[in-house]
Amino acid sequence: MKKLRGIIGLLLVATIITLTGCGSSSQKSDSSSAQSDIKAIKDRGKLKVGVKVDVPKFGYKNPKTSKIEGFEIDLSKAIAKKILGDENKVEFEAVTAKTRGPLLDSGDVDMIAATFTITDERKKSYNFSDPYFTDSVGLMVKKASGIKDLKGLNGKTIGVAQSATSKQAIQDSAKKVGSTVKFLEFGSYPEIKAALDSGRIDCFSVDGSILFGYLDSSTEILKERFTPQEYGIASKKGNDALAKTINETINDMKKSGEIDKLIKKWGIK
Ligand code: GLU
Repeated sequence: MKKLRGIIGLLLVATIITLTGCGSSSQKSDSSSAQSDIKAIKDRGKLKVGVKVDVPKFGYKNPKTSKIEGFEIDLSKAIAKKILGDENKVEFEAVTAKTRGPLLDSGDVDMIAATFTITDERKKSYNFSDPYFTDSVGLMVKKASGIKDLKGLNGKTIGVAQSATSKQAIQDSAKKVGSTVKFLEFGSYPEIKAALDSGRIDCFSVDGSILFGYLDSSTEILKERFTPQEYGIASKKGNDALAKTINETINDMKKSGEIDKLIKKWGIK
């Protein structure tokens, strides 16, 4: 019995040591994982990046060349160069507003450079770099609708993407101009555009840069813009060495004027 008590006692002590030791050992593994996040990319020989493929000038699959190109593609290449010494050691994966977070969580991609607005809420889940661009939320309507501004959308239905900042932004702005609007949420931008074309919704709202990818002869983007959206590069929490490297690259590029050059190169206003 004494022996058994002794064994239980030892087990308890061992458990307590393991539990209390947890803080220091996890700190150790945190710092080693902070090193290993970069090492894993180096061992793999490729930086995996989630990008948009339907946002002209930012992340866009050029139908003529089948290549993905744009400002955020060039930023990703610069980060690949910083980590791997070669801007071509980068692999792109197409993401949407809905899929980019989960793809980062699952480790399918190392980082997201995809018109991802920095918000306090998102900062709880991901590391964000300092902003590299500011866009604002726009409204696209059918030219034939005669709608000219947010006030004119009173009583109308606006299509927005799930997991996007657009609904909140327009809800707040509509209140200010005394408009009551309804929302329909969709999984992807092509679905919103199709709903606009079929008359299911009266307006398609998202960041101006994204709207441009869906502009055609029957639609127009209204002049009014709302709620500045600061774009940052997101990476997984815990991958802190990677986050630091990304941020250093962005800030170096800001200081050297490279970011401004890229904005010019892509004709972004
Ligand atoms: N930039 C906005 C956001 O992060 C719009 C959605 C999108 O980027 O697709 O929510």
